[in-house]
Amino acid sequence: MGIKVSKFGGSSLADATQFAKVRDILLSDADRRIAVPSAPGKRSSVDIKVTDLFYSCNRLACEGKGIDEVFSKIADRYHGIEQELGLTVDLDAHLEEIRKNIQLGAGADYAASRGEYLNGILLADYLGWDFVDAAKGIFFDEEGKLDSEKTQQVLSALLKEHRYAVVPGFYGCDSHGNVKTFSRGGSDITGAIVARAVGADLYENWTDVSGCLMADPRIVRNPETIRYVTYRELRELSYMGASVLHEDAIFPVRIAGIPTNIRNTNAPEEPGTIIGYEAEDYESKYAITGIAGHKDFAIVTVEKAMMNAELGFGRRVLQVLEEEGVSFEHMPSGIDTMCVVVSEDAIEGKKDRIVHRIHELCAPDAVEIHSGLALIATVGRGMVRSKGISAKLFDALMRAGINVRLIDQGSSELNIIVGVDNLDFENAVRAIYRAFVVKENRW
Ligand code: ASP
Repeated sequence: MGIKVSKFGGSSLADATQFAKVRDILLSDADRRIAVPSAPGKRSSVDIKVTDLFYSCNRLACEGKGIDEVFSKIADRYHGIEQELGLTVDLDAHLEEIRKNIQLGAGADYAASRGEYLNGILLADYLGWDFVDAAKGIFFDEEGKLDSEKTQQVLSALLKEHRYAVVPGFYGCDSHGNVKTFSRGGSDITGAIVARAVGADLYENWTDVSGCLMADPRIVRNPETIRYVTYRELRELSYMGASVLHEDAIFPVRIAGIPTNIRNTNAPEEPGTIIGYEAEDYESKYAITGIAGHKDFAIVTVEKAMMNAELGFGRRVLQVLEEEGVSFEHMPSGIDTMCVVVSEDAIEGKKDRIVHRIHELCAPDAVEIHSGLALIATVGRGMVRSKGISAKLFDALMRAGINVRLIDQGSSELNIIVGVDNLDFENAVRAIYRAFVVKENRW
């Protein structure tokens, strides 16, 4: 028998109906032994997440104002779940203690973490499972970073004592013994850490979509779901803007060789997306895995005759960016030109200084900054083996009348990045999708 760790997002636990779906899912497979809940999320587009209500309470408390009005909205959310499910837990005692602590200035992290804490208590009661407080097994170091080693040691020992347990997401304990949260969306990280600690066979991440999509649904209508994706591919897709999991949720499971399965709480019959270490072994229906990208990059182009013979030239260009606190995204270069792609935001208000300083340090023939560039990554583990992928991609862009301003094929042969005008971004994504997915389907 294996172990599955199942993390449920905020919309999966937003009310009693969703709790019932979660229980059905958990009880339908005896391998599902650890549940990691988020705080109750939005029940509709106009609803407010409980985490946000907790942050509001903390802000009010910091301003010396009363929190009771906002806190009562939080209490109503949990009471609704408790009453509809007929739970036996002493919810009022928990709520009162939390209300007092927040009003007395327990701080933002404590306040925000209570969303998951309370949901964990309710879920454990509903399932009849043990509640294990994440603050007892997840630790941050002096600098506020996750202390992976200590966490792995303590948490795995702690969870050995429980056959079925609920571990609330989003928080742990700092080096002074206080509650500390991850960044927003951090329950994904808790799930991954817990999966590693128990040596799970699978980390399930239950949400409200049936997996990762091959392209942004705001650009491509009804894009296909990705069935298998490798952790490396996912990293490329997320870096380029695809929002799937919290970035830091990949590391713990990736190093432990545990696959992640993105599933839909509202459609549990669908297999979702598997993110695996060796998905190279999985045949993919398409030559590509996904397309992601975003707008608003700029290219810094530096030209100098015989640049290639000049020792340290590239280093000095990058030094200028470093001095300005700008990190770069890509660096496609020619013989006498060097291009550095940076995000527009990062160089806002610094352009003149950057150009001036490059002149000073590198004595180039010309330096220019072009704005309004969008980058699109076409990602696919199959690229290494297939011929004609780039031909197809550029043919699609040409047919759509799109001018390609930059090309970069990472040495990993995992993706091809093209830079196009911001204005061409959506059309370019659609053209690539059509060429690799829609047309393939017609054969
Ligand atoms: N509740 C937290 C948030 O809203 C963490 C999470 O849901 O993953 O960011």
